[in-house]
Amino acid sequence: MHMASNEDVFKKIISHAKEYGFVFPSSEIYDGLSAVYDYGPFGVELKNNIREYWWKSMVQYHENIVGVDAAIFMHPTVWKASGHVDAFNDPMIDNKDSKKRYRADVLIEDHMAKIEEKILKEVEKARSRFGESFDEKMFRETNPRVKENQDKIDAIRTRFYPALDRNDLEDVKKLIEELGIVCPISGSRNWTEVRQFNLMFSTQMGSVNEDANEIYLRPETAQGIFVNFLNVQKTARMKIPFGIAQTGKAFRNEIVARQFLFRMREFEQMEMQYFVKPGEELTWYEYWKQQRMKWHLSLGIPKEKYRFHNHEKLAHYANAAADIEFHFPIGFKELEGIHSRTDFDLGAHQKYSGKKLQYFDTETNENYVPYVVETSIGLDRTFLAVLSHAYKEEKLEDGSERVVLSIPAFLAPIKVAVLPLVKKDGLPEKAREIMDTLMYDYRCFYEEKDTIGRRYRRMDALGTPFAITIDHQTLKDNTVTIRDRDTMRQERIEVSKISEAVREKISTSSF
Ligand code: ATP
Repeated sequence: MHMASNEDVFKKIISHAKEYGFVFPSSEIYDGLSAVYDYGPFGVELKNNIREYWWKSMVQYHENIVGVDAAIFMHPTVWKASGHVDAFNDPMIDNKDSKKRYRADVLIEDHMAKIEEKILKEVEKARSRFGESFDEKMFRETNPRVKENQDKIDAIRTRFYPALDRNDLEDVKKLIEELGIVCPISGSRNWTEVRQFNLMFSTQMGSVNEDANEIYLRPETAQGIFVNFLNVQKTARMKIPFGIAQTGKAFRNEIVARQFLFRMREFEQMEMQYFVKPGEELTWYEYWKQQRMKWHLSLGIPKEKYRFHNHEKLAHYANAAADIEFHFPIGFKELEGIHSRTDFDLGAHQKYSGKKLQYFDTETNENYVPYVVETSIGLDRTFLAVLSHAYKEEKLEDGSERVVLSIPAFLAPIKVAVLPLVKKDGLPEKAREIMDTLMYDYRCFYEEKDTIGRRYRRMDALGTPFAITIDHQTLKDNTVTIRDRDTMRQERIEVSKISEAVREKISTSSF
């Protein structure tokens, strides 16, 4: 395997995604639109497959979870009640030399992440030196370099989070200066003051100025679930505990927008709000933390790539919160949040709307506002996690190289490539016949151009798990070769067995 820095790997993944039709910059012919992306022919398939798998895992595999698809536009008071109008802010800071804008908290968090990476490198070095007998916990507690770096991180944390809590933006700026954080573009420490910036996009609804209303593009999908709590509970006859799931677009005017799919201004969320009896929320919170981690591991990505980050600093409405972080090429970063949100949202909507948002518990004959445990995951970030884990550059035995996307077969954009060996002798006709029998069950891709070797490489680069080759022998005995993307091994099988062989490999495991 060729060694490259993480940033190089990230750049390669971005250009691979573009070259092979996964992700394009938005409006590219006009030089793009910052932090907005379009999914191409193979990207949209992968994205749909991830969304579908999430939906199945939530709605189909749980009898007590149902879905909704709420509108992106909502009544403006929703965002007043939810706290977004007053507090959905990020602290921003500008570099006076480069004129670039940054999130002050992200500058500090990135600074901590760099120190963290140093620790991880030491740990990995030691792990390979000590082998089996390596005790990571002990190593972290005793190695002087690791300890020194850990102390640095802890010191920043105890200063930074309380400062944010107090909204002490002056102290945040002082910390940036004291840590010697420089602008990555200009290399200078010439910073402006730190200011708060609201992330919601707004627009006008209504045709004439007088009755036009300022409304917002939703910055999260969750509120569409909360305002429909009673509608859903009554019509689907749900009994607590129960969940409502939703996937859909969300919009945030992000300050830092230079991280490809990781931080977009228009993105998609997959959220589930689980309504529980007050007092039982922490049990369900633990349950969903474990359940969601299992889901991530069921994507075939090893557990070393994930970790929990339990929040010490809680939002005012939460009584417990954790992120599932993923080791992206840009470091360990949030992929999903699991939050115990108490009765904050339903309570606030009850207050602002004047409508009762309560549940009548037939067992206890009581009315109450349910508590909520939320799981909230970014579809685009999951796409990026799957893509960056799958991307591999391999040197083959014959000295050649290939790029392969080892995407789990059940998520792969194309399941089966149908390839006649040559474009004559009746092979294309036979291949079309086979294509016709497979295309109603699987997303297939027919290709007859180029040498077979080149076509295999292209399918590897798209992450297609199976390539069926129709050759002269096929005409004689109705067998084809089926090639496995990862091992590159080929087997001869009967045409009638193809469908079953594919089905076996793409079935999802229950988790
Ligand atoms: P961050 O701290 O990275 O800004 P957040 O804590 O604001 O994220 P949440 O509000 O908890 O994120 O949103 C839930 C999920 O939505 C996140 O875990 C992430 O996967 C996804 N998400 C949030 N903002 C973006 C974005 N700008 N681009 C892509 N995905 C996003």
